[in-house]
Amino acid sequence: MANLECTPVSEWGFFTLPRPMVIAGPCSAETEEQVLETAKGLRELGINVFRAGIWKPRTHPGCFEGIGVPGLKWLQRVKKETGMKVATEVASERHVFECLKYGVDMVWLGARTTANPFLVQEIADALKDTDIPVLVKNPVNPDLDLWIGALERLNRAGIKKLGVIHRGFSSSQKIIYRNDPGWKIAIELRTRFPEIPFFADPSHMGGSRDYVLELSQRALDLGLDGLMVESHCNPSCALSDSKQQLTPAEIKDLLSRIVVRETDSDSLEYKEGIDHLRAQIDVIDDNLLYILQSRMNISRKIGEYKRDHNIAILQTARWDEVLDGMVKNGRKYGLAEDFVKAVFNAIHEVSVQAQNEILEASQKAKL
Ligand code: PEP
Ligand code: MN
Repeated sequence: MANLECTPVSEWGFFTLPRPMVIAGPCSAETEEQVLETAKGLRELGINVFRAGIWKPRTHPGCFEGIGVPGLKWLQRVKKETGMKVATEVASERHVFECLKYGVDMVWLGARTTANPFLVQEIADALKDTDIPVLVKNPVNPDLDLWIGALERLNRAGIKKLGVIHRGFSSSQKIIYRNDPGWKIAIELRTRFPEIPFFADPSHMGGSRDYVLELSQRALDLGLDGLMVESHCNPSCALSDSKQQLTPAEIKDLLSRIVVRETDSDSLEYKEGIDHLRAQIDVIDDNLLYILQSRMNISRKIGEYKRDHNIAILQTARWDEVLDGMVKNGRKYGLAEDFVKAVFNAIHEVSVQAQNEILEASQKAKL
């Protein structure tokens, strides 16, 4: 399993606000005035990391594809006049060189770039021997290994200040959000690498300013550390992603409305309460394991019985009936259909596998 050697975010010297860490700024740097006005508005809220896209990966040619190198000079002004750290997206070796030349403090890899190991490697090589933090957005497709692979490539190039940004996944289904949150993959990454600072990007996930609050809240409730939010001094005139950007005043409102729950507590009462509940869960989990083992034993016996009577292992009609019954009973217990189906299909799959093994063993013995 991948192992990453990382510098704790507390040692980056970037984020001074308590949780959540906030990165905010426009989708794209458009004009010097827009960049400075937005940055100053955000700085007043205590936000000290500014984002702005300089090179924009657009779906269709002919759209605004970013201001390019001149925008890096505006970011220099932001640094000088507000003291904020500045960050932008890089998608090639050339972008990295320009960012290093103009003193960009932090870069991120966009979702389309993370999905391409050639580009990730090119960027990792260009960043070799630098100390700047790199944030890696999830790939557009829900592929956890591709995401981890990008982190590994950067880490092998000596990048130790690594963070991740979850912006959701492209979906072929019609969903209310621009990208499918697919939180399961984010939780898995968080569990595997708990030390890596984890940001959510509710702007690209939601695709509309209406969803930024609920997605931010969800991310924080899941224990993520920070937010990257798009902010523009005049969103309706934005040259890209105008529907999802918030004014600095709206960012202020967002930050005042999100509820930040503690990740842990020192209170004795809390500790006693949670320990008691966890002890109950541990007993139930142990019982579940015992019950699963008993079920597997019976399942193997059924396998032997079928083998002795020359009966096929899989009887889908019977399984459909069993599953239907389970879903109905589950409903009585207040258990969601999807949950019941997922649990029992997983149990059924290993049972069939075990019965298959019994059959194969007897066939081998006959040969
Ligand atoms: C962005 O952050 O401006 C961007 C292009 O995001 P993503 O890579 O998530 O689409
Ligand atoms: Mn954008």
